[in-house]
Amino acid sequence: MPLCKLCGEHMHQIFYFDLNDDRLADLKAKELTALPLFSCLNCSMVWEPQYFKLSDGGKSIQIINQENTDIWIQDEADKLPVPLPKTNIKLIEMKDEDIPTNEENYDLAFDLFGSEYLCRVLGAPLYEEVPEDLECPICKKEMKYIATITQDLGELELISVVDFQLGEMNIYYYLCKDCSVIKTQIQGT
Ligand SMILES: [Zn+2]
Ligand SMILES: [Zn+2]
Repeated sequence: MPLCKLCGEHMHQIFYFDLNDDRLADLKAKELTALPLFSCLNCSMVWEPQYFKLSDGGKSIQIINQENTDIWIQDEADKLPVPLPKTNIKLIEMKDEDIPTNEENYDLAFDLFGSEYLCRVLGAPLYEEVPEDLECPICKKEMKYIATITQDLGELELISVVDFQLGEMNIYYYLCKDCSVIKTQIQGT
């Protein structure tokens, strides 16, 4: 993981997906055999868009741009550990109620996100607002929505090894497969 410019520590690898899984075949590209979802979760860097270039199959990450100009670092006591403790996660198919086909459905899907599971990969995005400006910084084509991470809202302890709190935000990930560029952008919840 690259170093966080604010914290001086490595960024958090939050999730890591092996793209040899057939269900994630859509994400596979010549430069990508694994997909890490990452960001520093202990400071304001995640508040504004961040762009990263992946190489070496997804194992190597370079910062292209981080637009944040705030200087906020989480209190020592509330910081998430660096690195996050390792645990296995299970990839499950979305159910009908997780797929937003109408407004009613949308609210239900939002309710389940964070109480039943913490990460959505592919499928339809759940947005508070539809994002603008998804231009890839290299080729200028529109980046593709790939995943969203939310915090653990309930007592379910969906992640047992760490108290997975992010503040009131979801982190959206976008990918340009041609350039192996990843963008993160948050939306408040
Ligand atoms: Zn940081
Ligand atoms: Zn591109």
